[in-house]
Amino acid sequence: MLFKAKDTISKSYDVIVIGSGLAGMTAANKLAKNGRSVLLLESHNKLGGFATWFKRKGGNQIFDISLHGFPFGMKKTCRKYWSKEISDAIIKIKGVRFKNPMYDLETDFTREDYTNKLINYFKIEPATVHAFFKFLEEMNFYDPPKLTNGELFEKFFPGRRDVLRFLLEPIVYANGSNLEDPAITYGIVFSNFMSKGVYTFQGGTDQLIEKMKLELIKNGVDIKMHSRVDKIQVEKGKVTGVVLKGVEIKSKAVLSNSNLLSTIFKMTGKEHFSPDYIEKAKKVRLNTSSCQVYMGLKSGASIPRMKDLIFYSEDADFSTDLVLSPSVGSQTFSLYYPDSRPHLNNHYAIVSSSNSRYEDWENLTEKEYKKRKYFLIEKALSCLEKVIPGIREKIDFVEAATPLTVEKYTLHPKGASFGTKFEGLEISMNMHKQVAGLFHAGSVGIIMSGWLGAANYGVIQSHEVEGYL
Ligand SMILES: Cc1cc2nc3c(=O)[nH]c(=O)nc-3n(C[C@H](O)[C@H](O)[C@H](O)COP(=O)(O)OP(=O)(O)OC[C@H]3O[C@@H](n4cnc5c(N)ncnc54)[C@H](O)[C@@H]3O)c2cc1C
Repeated sequence: MLFKAKDTISKSYDVIVIGSGLAGMTAANKLAKNGRSVLLLESHNKLGGFATWFKRKGGNQIFDISLHGFPFGMKKTCRKYWSKEISDAIIKIKGVRFKNPMYDLETDFTREDYTNKLINYFKIEPATVHAFFKFLEEMNFYDPPKLTNGELFEKFFPGRRDVLRFLLEPIVYANGSNLEDPAITYGIVFSNFMSKGVYTFQGGTDQLIEKMKLELIKNGVDIKMHSRVDKIQVEKGKVTGVVLKGVEIKSKAVLSNSNLLSTIFKMTGKEHFSPDYIEKAKKVRLNTSSCQVYMGLKSGASIPRMKDLIFYSEDADFSTDLVLSPSVGSQTFSLYYPDSRPHLNNHYAIVSSSNSRYEDWENLTEKEYKKRKYFLIEKALSCLEKVIPGIREKIDFVEAATPLTVEKYTLHPKGASFGTKFEGLEISMNMHKQVAGLFHAGSVGIIMSGWLGAANYGVIQSHEVEGYL
Protein backbone atom coordinates (compact mmCIF):
# COMPACT_ATOMS: atom_id res chain seq x y z
CA MET A 1 0.00 0.00 0.00
CA LEU A 2 0.96 3.61 -0.46
CA PHE A 3 0.92 5.54 2.83
CA LYS A 4 0.08 9.23 2.86
CA ALA A 5 2.64 11.68 4.24
CA LYS A 6 0.60 12.29 7.39
CA ASP A 7 -0.03 8.59 8.15
CA THR A 8 1.73 7.03 11.13
CA ILE A 9 2.92 3.45 10.91
CA SER A 10 2.27 1.13 13.84
CA LYS A 11 2.95 -2.20 12.10
CA SER A 12 6.33 -3.94 12.36
CA TYR A 13 8.14 -5.38 9.33
CA ASP A 14 10.62 -8.04 8.32
CA VAL A 15 12.63 -5.38 6.48
CA ILE A 16 12.65 -1.61 6.29
CA VAL A 17 14.36 -0.23 3.18
CA ILE A 18 15.62 3.34 3.58
CA GLY A 19 15.67 5.08 0.22
CA SER A 20 14.08 4.29 -3.12
CA GLY A 21 17.02 4.50 -5.53
CA LEU A 22 17.24 1.64 -8.03
CA ALA A 23 19.12 -0.49 -5.48
CA GLY A 24 16.58 0.15 -2.72
CA MET A 25 13.55 -0.44 -4.92
CA THR A 26 14.97 -3.59 -6.52
CA ALA A 27 15.87 -5.05 -3.12
CA ALA A 28 12.41 -4.16 -1.73
CA ASN A 29 10.68 -5.79 -4.70
CA LYS A 30 12.76 -8.97 -4.50
CA LEU A 31 12.21 -9.34 -0.75
CA ALA A 32 8.46 -8.76 -1.10
CA LYS A 33 8.28 -11.34 -3.89
CA ASN A 34 10.00 -13.75 -1.48
CA GLY A 35 7.06 -13.23 0.86
CA ARG A 36 8.74 -10.81 3.28
CA SER A 37 6.88 -7.85 4.76
CA VAL A 38 8.68 -4.75 3.49
CA LEU A 39 8.38 -1.04 4.22
CA LEU A 40 10.07 1.34 1.77
CA LEU A 41 10.74 4.82 3.17
CA GLU A 42 11.75 7.65 0.85
CA SER A 43 12.65 11.16 1.89
CA HIS A 44 11.69 12.79 -1.43
CA ASN A 45 8.17 13.23 -2.83
CA LYS A 46 8.81 10.65 -5.54
CA LEU A 47 10.55 7.30 -5.89
CA GLY A 48 13.69 6.68 -7.96
CA GLY A 49 16.57 8.55 -6.33
CA PHE A 50 18.87 9.60 -9.17
CA ALA A 51 16.56 7.78 -11.59
CA THR A 52 14.38 10.83 -11.75
CA TRP A 53 12.85 13.53 -13.93
CA PHE A 54 11.16 16.89 -13.64
CA LYS A 55 8.50 18.76 -15.58
CA ARG A 56 8.17 22.40 -16.46
CA LYS A 57 5.77 24.57 -18.46
CA GLY A 58 2.70 22.77 -17.19
CA GLY A 59 4.17 19.38 -18.05
CA ASN A 60 5.00 20.26 -21.67
CA GLN A 61 8.72 20.14 -20.95
CA ILE A 62 10.06 17.02 -19.26
CA PHE A 63 13.69 16.25 -18.47
CA ASP A 64 15.43 13.05 -17.38
CA ILE A 65 18.31 13.37 -14.95
CA SER A 66 20.17 10.08 -15.37
CA LEU A 67 18.57 8.34 -18.33
CA HIS A 68 21.44 8.71 -20.77
CA GLY A 69 22.42 5.13 -21.32
CA PHE A 70 23.12 1.86 -19.54
CA PRO A 71 24.39 -1.58 -20.58
CA PHE A 72 22.22 -4.32 -22.12
CA GLY A 73 22.36 -6.25 -18.82
CA MET A 74 19.64 -3.94 -17.47
CA LYS A 75 17.15 -5.68 -19.76
CA LYS A 76 17.86 -9.03 -18.13
CA THR A 77 17.86 -7.58 -14.61
CA CYS A 78 14.49 -5.91 -15.19
CA ARG A 79 12.96 -9.03 -16.73
CA LYS A 80 14.10 -11.18 -13.82
CA TYR A 81 13.48 -8.84 -10.90
CA TRP A 82 10.81 -6.45 -12.21
CA SER A 83 8.53 -7.33 -15.13
CA LYS A 84 8.50 -8.28 -18.79
CA GLU A 85 6.74 -4.98 -19.57
CA ILE A 86 9.60 -2.96 -18.06
CA SER A 87 12.23 -5.12 -19.72
CA ASP A 88 10.54 -4.90 -23.13
CA ALA A 89 10.64 -1.10 -23.04
CA ILE A 90 14.44 -1.16 -22.84
CA ILE A 91 15.78 -0.34 -26.30
CA LYS A 92 19.14 0.32 -27.90
CA ILE A 93 20.09 3.95 -28.51
CA LYS A 94 20.99 4.95 -32.06
CA GLY A 95 24.64 5.58 -31.26
CA VAL A 96 27.27 7.84 -29.82
CA ARG A 97 29.36 10.65 -31.28
CA PHE A 98 32.66 11.96 -30.00
CA LYS A 99 33.57 15.50 -30.95
CA ASN A 100 36.81 16.90 -29.55
CA PRO A 101 40.03 18.47 -30.85
CA MET A 102 41.58 15.00 -31.25
CA TYR A 103 38.83 13.38 -33.34
CA ASP A 104 35.22 13.56 -34.51
CA LEU A 105 33.72 10.11 -34.97
CA GLU A 106 30.63 8.03 -34.42
CA THR A 107 30.23 4.56 -32.93
CA ASP A 108 27.47 2.21 -31.83
CA PHE A 109 29.60 1.51 -28.74
CA THR A 110 29.92 -2.22 -29.28
CA ARG A 111 33.05 -4.33 -29.07
CA GLU A 112 32.98 -4.96 -32.83
CA ASP A 113 32.83 -1.28 -33.66
CA TYR A 114 35.36 -0.29 -31.01
CA THR A 115 37.75 -2.95 -32.32
CA ASN A 116 37.24 -1.63 -35.82
CA LYS A 117 37.82 2.00 -34.79
CA LEU A 118 40.91 1.16 -32.73
CA ILE A 119 42.46 -0.75 -35.63
CA ASN A 120 41.37 1.30 -38.62
CA TYR A 121 41.02 4.82 -37.24
CA PHE A 122 43.54 4.91 -34.40
CA LYS A 123 45.90 2.50 -36.25
CA ILE A 124 46.53 0.20 -33.29
CA GLU A 125 47.93 -3.26 -34.06
CA PRO A 126 45.04 -5.80 -34.13
CA ALA A 127 46.95 -8.09 -31.75
CA THR A 128 47.14 -5.28 -29.16
CA VAL A 129 43.42 -4.51 -29.45
CA HIS A 130 42.45 -8.16 -29.02
CA ALA A 131 44.88 -8.53 -26.11
CA PHE A 132 43.34 -5.47 -24.45
CA PHE A 133 39.80 -6.86 -24.67
CA LYS A 134 40.98 -10.28 -23.52
CA PHE A 135 42.74 -8.70 -20.54
CA LEU A 136 39.53 -6.89 -19.54
CA GLU A 137 37.52 -10.10 -19.90
CA GLU A 138 39.86 -11.99 -17.63
CA MET A 139 39.87 -9.38 -14.86
CA ASN A 140 38.45 -10.95 -11.75
CA PHE A 141 36.39 -8.94 -9.33
CA TYR A 142 37.71 -10.97 -6.37
CA ASP A 143 41.39 -10.42 -7.19
CA PRO A 144 42.99 -7.57 -5.27
CA PRO A 145 43.30 -4.48 -7.51
CA LYS A 146 46.64 -4.58 -9.30
CA LEU A 147 46.57 -1.81 -11.89
CA THR A 148 45.12 1.66 -11.98
CA ASN A 149 43.24 2.84 -15.08
CA GLY A 150 46.21 5.03 -15.99
CA GLU A 151 48.58 2.03 -15.77
CA LEU A 152 46.19 -0.14 -17.78
CA PHE A 153 46.15 2.29 -20.72
CA GLU A 154 49.88 2.89 -20.53
CA LYS A 155 50.43 -0.89 -20.65
CA PHE A 156 48.45 -1.39 -23.86
CA PHE A 157 48.54 2.01 -25.57
CA PRO A 158 51.65 3.84 -24.30
CA GLY A 159 51.58 7.57 -24.91
CA ARG A 160 48.30 7.43 -26.89
CA ARG A 161 46.23 10.19 -25.27
CA ASP A 162 43.68 9.96 -28.09
CA VAL A 163 43.08 6.25 -27.44
CA LEU A 164 42.92 6.83 -23.71
CA ARG A 165 40.25 9.47 -24.31
CA PHE A 166 38.27 7.23 -26.68
CA LEU A 167 38.27 4.37 -24.16
CA LEU A 168 37.91 6.18 -20.87
CA GLU A 169 35.85 9.35 -21.47
CA PRO A 170 32.43 7.63 -21.71
CA ILE A 171 33.13 5.60 -18.56
CA VAL A 172 34.18 8.73 -16.70
CA TYR A 173 30.68 10.02 -17.41
CA ALA A 174 29.07 6.68 -16.61
CA ASN A 175 30.55 6.27 -13.14
CA GLY A 176 32.92 9.10 -12.29
CA SER A 177 36.03 6.91 -12.45
CA ASN A 178 39.40 8.46 -13.16
CA LEU A 179 42.96 7.52 -14.06
CA GLU A 180 43.90 6.77 -10.46
CA ASP A 181 40.99 4.35 -9.82
CA PRO A 182 41.59 0.57 -9.90
CA ALA A 183 41.40 -0.75 -13.46
CA ILE A 184 38.90 -3.40 -12.37
CA THR A 185 36.27 -0.65 -11.97
CA TYR A 186 36.85 0.37 -15.57
CA GLY A 187 37.12 -3.20 -16.84
CA ILE A 188 33.76 -4.32 -15.49
CA VAL A 189 31.76 -1.29 -16.60
CA PHE A 190 33.41 -0.96 -20.03
CA SER A 191 32.98 -4.68 -20.73
CA ASN A 192 29.30 -4.44 -19.72
CA PHE A 193 28.73 -1.69 -22.28
CA MET A 194 30.85 -3.42 -24.92
CA SER A 195 28.72 -6.56 -24.76
CA LYS A 196 25.94 -5.02 -26.87
CA GLY A 197 26.10 -1.22 -26.84
CA VAL A 198 24.11 1.44 -24.99
CA TYR A 199 20.46 1.09 -23.98
CA THR A 200 17.70 3.34 -22.70
CA PHE A 201 14.16 3.08 -21.34
CA GLN A 202 11.61 4.09 -23.94
CA GLY A 203 8.88 6.19 -22.36
CA GLY A 204 11.15 8.09 -19.99
CA THR A 205 12.13 7.77 -16.34
CA ASP A 206 8.68 8.90 -15.14
CA GLN A 207 7.02 5.94 -16.85
CA LEU A 208 9.67 3.50 -15.60
CA ILE A 209 9.36 4.60 -11.98
CA GLU A 210 5.56 4.59 -12.15
CA LYS A 211 5.65 1.00 -13.44
CA MET A 212 8.10 0.05 -10.67
CA LYS A 213 5.90 1.72 -8.06
CA LEU A 214 2.85 -0.24 -9.24
CA GLU A 215 4.88 -3.45 -9.23
CA LEU A 216 6.08 -2.81 -5.66
CA ILE A 217 2.53 -2.20 -4.47
CA LYS A 218 1.27 -5.27 -6.34
CA ASN A 219 3.91 -7.37 -4.61
CA GLY A 220 2.86 -6.06 -1.19
CA VAL A 221 5.54 -3.46 -0.43
CA ASP A 222 4.32 -0.66 1.85
CA ILE A 223 5.65 2.67 0.59
CA LYS A 224 5.89 5.99 2.35
CA MET A 225 7.36 9.08 0.71
CA HIS A 226 8.15 12.40 2.44
CA SER A 227 9.82 10.15 5.01
CA ARG A 228 13.38 11.01 5.86
CA VAL A 229 14.70 8.45 8.34
CA ASP A 230 16.62 10.08 11.18
CA LYS A 231 18.00 7.08 12.95
CA ILE A 232 18.58 3.35 12.64
CA GLN A 233 17.86 1.70 16.00
CA VAL A 234 20.41 -0.80 17.31
CA GLU A 235 20.16 -2.74 20.55
CA LYS A 236 22.86 -5.10 21.78
CA GLY A 237 24.53 -5.18 18.38
CA LYS A 238 21.30 -5.94 16.53
CA VAL A 239 19.00 -3.77 14.42
CA THR A 240 15.51 -3.24 15.87
CA GLY A 241 14.04 -0.69 13.44
CA VAL A 242 14.24 2.97 12.46
CA VAL A 243 13.13 6.31 13.85
CA LEU A 244 11.02 8.42 11.52
CA LYS A 245 10.06 11.89 12.71
CA GLY A 246 10.51 10.81 16.32
CA VAL A 247 8.45 7.63 15.97
CA GLU A 248 10.06 4.19 16.08
CA ILE A 249 9.07 1.61 13.47
CA LYS A 250 10.15 -1.91 14.33
CA SER A 251 11.76 -4.35 11.92
CA LYS A 252 13.96 -7.45 11.97
CA ALA A 253 16.32 -6.03 9.34
CA VAL A 254 17.12 -2.64 7.82
CA LEU A 255 18.57 -2.18 4.35
CA SER A 256 19.89 1.32 3.76
CA ASN A 257 20.00 2.72 0.24
CA SER A 258 21.14 6.04 1.64
CA ASN A 259 24.73 7.14 1.19
CA LEU A 260 27.19 4.71 2.76
CA LEU A 261 28.83 7.27 5.04
CA SER A 262 25.52 8.81 6.12
CA THR A 263 24.27 5.33 6.97
CA ILE A 264 27.22 4.64 9.25
CA PHE A 265 27.98 8.01 10.80
CA LYS A 266 24.65 9.85 10.76
CA MET A 267 21.89 7.28 11.00
CA THR A 268 23.47 4.40 12.92
CA GLY A 269 26.28 5.96 14.96
CA LYS A 270 29.92 4.93 15.03
CA GLU A 271 29.58 3.43 18.55
CA HIS A 272 27.81 0.43 17.03
CA PHE A 273 30.75 -0.60 14.83
CA SER A 274 34.21 -1.93 15.66
CA PRO A 275 37.02 0.69 15.85
CA ASP A 276 38.78 -1.05 12.98
CA TYR A 277 35.72 -0.85 10.71
CA ILE A 278 35.21 2.82 11.62
CA GLU A 279 38.84 3.63 10.85
CA LYS A 280 38.43 2.05 7.40
CA ALA A 281 35.08 3.77 6.86
CA LYS A 282 36.63 7.16 7.64
CA LYS A 283 39.08 6.60 4.82
CA VAL A 284 36.33 5.98 2.22
CA ARG A 285 36.36 8.77 -0.34
CA LEU A 286 33.15 10.10 -1.82
CA ASN A 287 32.90 10.21 -5.57
CA THR A 288 32.70 13.50 -7.45
CA SER A 289 29.50 15.29 -8.40
CA SER A 290 27.77 16.57 -11.53
CA CYS A 291 26.32 19.65 -13.18
CA GLN A 292 23.55 19.56 -15.75
CA VAL A 293 21.86 21.99 -18.10
CA TYR A 294 18.32 21.18 -19.24
CA MET A 295 17.19 22.66 -22.55
CA GLY A 296 13.61 22.49 -23.82
CA LEU A 297 12.51 23.21 -27.38
CA LYS A 298 9.72 25.57 -28.36
CA SER A 299 6.44 23.91 -29.24
CA GLY A 300 6.60 22.74 -32.85
CA ALA A 301 10.40 23.13 -33.10
CA SER A 302 12.53 20.13 -34.06
CA ILE A 303 16.15 19.10 -34.50
CA PRO A 304 17.61 16.79 -37.12
CA ARG A 305 18.04 13.17 -36.07
CA MET A 306 21.64 12.56 -35.06
CA LYS A 307 23.26 10.36 -32.42
CA ASP A 308 21.59 10.17 -28.98
CA LEU A 309 24.74 10.84 -26.99
CA ILE A 310 27.44 13.33 -27.90
CA PHE A 311 30.67 13.41 -25.92
CA TYR A 312 31.72 16.97 -26.66
CA SER A 313 34.96 18.56 -25.56
CA GLU A 314 36.99 21.64 -26.42
CA ASP A 315 39.92 20.55 -24.24
CA ALA A 316 42.98 19.75 -26.35
CA ASP A 317 44.01 16.99 -23.92
CA PHE A 318 42.05 14.59 -21.75
CA SER A 319 42.61 14.38 -18.00
CA THR A 320 40.57 13.89 -14.85
CA ASP A 321 41.25 17.45 -13.75
CA LEU A 322 40.09 18.90 -17.03
CA VAL A 323 36.89 16.83 -16.98
CA LEU A 324 36.08 18.12 -13.47
CA SER A 325 37.12 21.71 -14.11
CA PRO A 326 34.52 24.48 -13.57
CA SER A 327 35.50 25.81 -17.00
CA VAL A 328 33.44 22.87 -18.39
CA GLY A 329 35.73 22.07 -21.29
CA SER A 330 33.97 18.70 -21.62
CA GLN A 331 30.30 17.80 -21.44
CA THR A 332 27.93 15.14 -22.70
CA PHE A 333 24.82 16.08 -24.61
CA SER A 334 21.90 13.67 -24.38
CA LEU A 335 19.41 14.24 -27.15
CA TYR A 336 15.85 13.08 -26.54
CA TYR A 337 13.87 12.80 -29.78
CA PRO A 338 10.09 12.22 -30.02
CA ASP A 339 10.61 8.43 -30.09
CA SER A 340 12.06 8.53 -26.56
CA ARG A 341 8.56 9.48 -25.33
CA PRO A 342 6.26 8.30 -28.12
CA HIS A 343 3.17 8.95 -25.97
CA LEU A 344 3.89 12.71 -26.02
CA ASN A 345 3.31 15.04 -28.93
CA ASN A 346 6.60 15.59 -30.77
CA HIS A 347 8.63 16.06 -27.58
CA TYR A 348 12.31 17.03 -27.78
CA ALA A 349 14.70 17.75 -24.93
CA ILE A 350 18.44 18.16 -24.57
CA VAL A 351 20.46 17.65 -21.39
CA SER A 352 24.11 18.55 -20.95
CA SER A 353 25.96 16.72 -18.17
CA SER A 354 29.42 17.46 -16.84
CA ASN A 355 31.38 16.01 -13.94
CA SER A 356 32.24 18.50 -11.24
CA ARG A 357 33.57 19.02 -7.75
CA TYR A 358 31.35 20.03 -4.86
CA GLU A 359 34.18 22.20 -3.55
CA ASP A 360 33.91 24.46 -6.61
CA TRP A 361 30.29 25.25 -5.78
CA GLU A 362 30.08 25.37 -2.00
CA ASN A 363 30.64 28.58 -0.06
CA LEU A 364 29.80 30.84 -3.01
CA THR A 365 27.79 34.00 -2.38
CA GLU A 366 24.35 34.00 -3.97
CA LYS A 367 25.66 36.36 -6.63
CA GLU A 368 28.67 34.16 -7.44
CA TYR A 369 26.47 31.05 -7.51
CA LYS A 370 24.09 32.65 -10.00
CA LYS A 371 27.03 33.83 -12.11
CA ARG A 372 28.49 30.30 -12.18
CA LYS A 373 25.12 28.86 -13.17
CA TYR A 374 24.81 31.43 -15.93
CA PHE A 375 28.28 30.46 -17.18
CA LEU A 376 27.29 26.78 -17.16
CA ILE A 377 24.18 27.51 -19.21
CA GLU A 378 26.01 29.76 -21.67
CA LYS A 379 28.76 27.16 -22.10
CA ALA A 380 26.21 24.45 -22.85
CA LEU A 381 24.37 26.63 -25.38
CA SER A 382 27.48 27.87 -27.16
CA CYS A 383 28.95 24.35 -27.47
CA LEU A 384 25.62 22.91 -28.60
CA GLU A 385 25.49 25.56 -31.34
CA LYS A 386 28.62 23.94 -32.79
CA VAL A 387 26.84 20.61 -33.00
CA ILE A 388 23.38 21.85 -33.98
CA PRO A 389 23.68 25.28 -35.65
CA GLY A 390 20.75 27.58 -34.85
CA ILE A 391 19.68 25.61 -31.78
CA ARG A 392 19.63 28.67 -29.52
CA GLU A 393 16.67 30.09 -31.44
CA LYS A 394 14.70 26.91 -30.95
CA ILE A 395 15.17 26.68 -27.19
CA ASP A 396 12.67 28.37 -24.90
CA PHE A 397 13.50 26.77 -21.56
CA VAL A 398 16.88 26.47 -19.85
CA GLU A 399 17.69 25.51 -16.28
CA ALA A 400 20.85 24.27 -14.56
CA ALA A 401 21.61 21.91 -11.68
CA THR A 402 24.80 21.93 -9.66
CA PRO A 403 26.40 19.67 -7.01
CA LEU A 404 24.31 21.57 -4.44
CA THR A 405 21.15 20.53 -6.29
CA VAL A 406 22.32 16.91 -6.28
CA GLU A 407 22.97 17.03 -2.53
CA LYS A 408 19.58 18.63 -1.83
CA TYR A 409 17.54 16.05 -3.72
CA THR A 410 19.43 12.81 -3.04
CA LEU A 411 20.98 13.55 0.37
CA HIS A 412 24.34 12.32 -0.87
CA PRO A 413 26.98 14.32 1.05
CA LYS A 414 28.85 16.68 -1.26
CA GLY A 415 26.40 15.81 -4.02
CA ALA A 416 28.33 12.60 -4.78
CA SER A 417 26.86 11.31 -8.04
CA PHE A 418 28.24 7.80 -7.96
CA GLY A 419 28.49 7.07 -4.23
CA THR A 420 31.99 6.27 -3.10
CA LYS A 421 35.32 5.27 -4.52
CA PHE A 422 36.39 1.61 -4.71
CA GLU A 423 37.20 1.21 -0.99
CA GLY A 424 33.51 1.82 -0.13
CA LEU A 425 32.53 -1.57 -1.54
CA GLU A 426 34.14 -3.62 1.23
CA ILE A 427 32.63 -1.38 3.93
CA SER A 428 29.17 -1.65 2.35
CA MET A 429 29.29 -5.42 1.88
CA ASN A 430 30.52 -6.07 5.43
CA MET A 431 28.11 -3.80 7.28
CA HIS A 432 25.91 -6.71 8.38
CA LYS A 433 28.91 -8.40 9.94
CA GLN A 434 29.22 -5.41 12.27
CA VAL A 435 25.58 -4.86 13.18
CA ALA A 436 23.30 -7.88 12.90
CA GLY A 437 20.43 -7.14 10.53
CA LEU A 438 21.90 -3.93 9.05
CA PHE A 439 22.58 -4.00 5.30
CA HIS A 440 23.57 -1.47 2.70
CA ALA A 441 22.79 -1.40 -1.04
CA GLY A 442 23.47 1.60 -3.22
CA SER A 443 26.14 3.27 -5.28
CA VAL A 444 29.51 2.26 -3.90
CA GLY A 445 32.88 1.26 -5.19
CA ILE A 446 32.23 2.62 -8.71
CA ILE A 447 31.21 -0.88 -9.84
CA MET A 448 27.92 -0.91 -7.93
CA SER A 449 26.76 2.39 -9.37
CA GLY A 450 24.91 3.36 -12.51
CA TRP A 451 21.43 1.96 -13.17
CA LEU A 452 22.61 -1.59 -13.75
CA GLY A 453 25.20 -1.65 -10.97
CA ALA A 454 22.75 -0.23 -8.41
CA ALA A 455 19.87 -2.54 -9.39
CA ASN A 456 22.13 -5.60 -9.34
CA TYR A 457 23.60 -4.61 -6.00
CA GLY A 458 20.05 -4.39 -4.64
CA VAL A 459 19.53 -8.01 -5.71
CA ILE A 460 22.84 -9.13 -4.19
CA GLN A 461 22.05 -7.50 -0.86
CA SER A 462 18.46 -8.80 -0.85
CA HIS A 463 19.99 -12.29 -0.82
CA GLU A 464 22.08 -11.32 2.22
CA VAL A 465 18.98 -9.97 3.98
CA GLU A 466 17.10 -13.15 3.10
CA GLY A 467 19.93 -15.25 4.54
CA TYR A 468 19.76 -13.25 7.78
CA LEU A 469 15.99 -13.48 8.09
C1 LIG B 1 23.92 13.51 -13.65
C2 LIG B 1 23.92 12.02 -13.57
C3 LIG B 1 23.78 11.27 -14.70
C4 LIG B 1 23.76 9.88 -14.62
N1 LIG B 1 23.60 9.18 -15.76
C5 LIG B 1 23.55 7.84 -15.71
C6 LIG B 1 23.35 7.08 -16.89
O1 LIG B 1 23.20 7.60 -17.99
N2 LIG B 1 23.34 5.73 -16.79
C7 LIG B 1 23.50 5.09 -15.60
O2 LIG B 1 23.47 3.87 -15.59
N3 LIG B 1 23.67 5.80 -14.46
C8 LIG B 1 23.70 7.14 -14.49
N4 LIG B 1 23.87 7.86 -13.33
C9 LIG B 1 24.06 7.14 -12.06
C10 LIG B 1 22.79 6.44 -11.57
O3 LIG B 1 21.68 7.25 -11.77
C11 LIG B 1 22.95 6.11 -10.10
O4 LIG B 1 24.18 5.43 -9.90
C12 LIG B 1 21.85 5.19 -9.57
O5 LIG B 1 20.58 5.63 -10.00
C13 LIG B 1 21.94 5.23 -8.05
O6 LIG B 1 21.01 4.39 -7.45
P1 LIG B 1 21.11 4.07 -5.90
O7 LIG B 1 20.28 2.88 -5.65
O8 LIG B 1 22.52 4.04 -5.47
O9 LIG B 1 20.38 5.22 -5.12
P2 LIG B 1 20.20 6.79 -5.24
O10 LIG B 1 19.72 7.10 -6.59
O11 LIG B 1 21.38 7.46 -4.68
O12 LIG B 1 18.96 6.98 -4.27
C14 LIG B 1 19.04 6.98 -2.89
C15 LIG B 1 17.67 7.35 -2.36
O13 LIG B 1 17.69 7.31 -0.92
C16 LIG B 1 16.94 8.40 -0.43
N5 LIG B 1 17.42 8.66 0.93
C17 LIG B 1 18.67 8.98 1.31
N6 LIG B 1 18.73 9.13 2.65
C18 LIG B 1 17.49 8.89 3.12
C19 LIG B 1 16.93 8.89 4.42
N7 LIG B 1 17.64 9.18 5.50
N8 LIG B 1 15.61 8.58 4.54
C20 LIG B 1 14.85 8.29 3.46
N9 LIG B 1 15.35 8.30 2.20
C21 LIG B 1 16.65 8.59 2.04
C22 LIG B 1 17.23 9.53 -1.41
O14 LIG B 1 16.23 10.52 -1.34
C23 LIG B 1 17.22 8.76 -2.73
O15 LIG B 1 15.93 8.70 -3.29
C24 LIG B 1 23.90 9.24 -13.37
C25 LIG B 1 24.02 10.01 -12.21
C26 LIG B 1 24.04 11.38 -12.30
C27 LIG B 1 24.18 12.19 -11.06
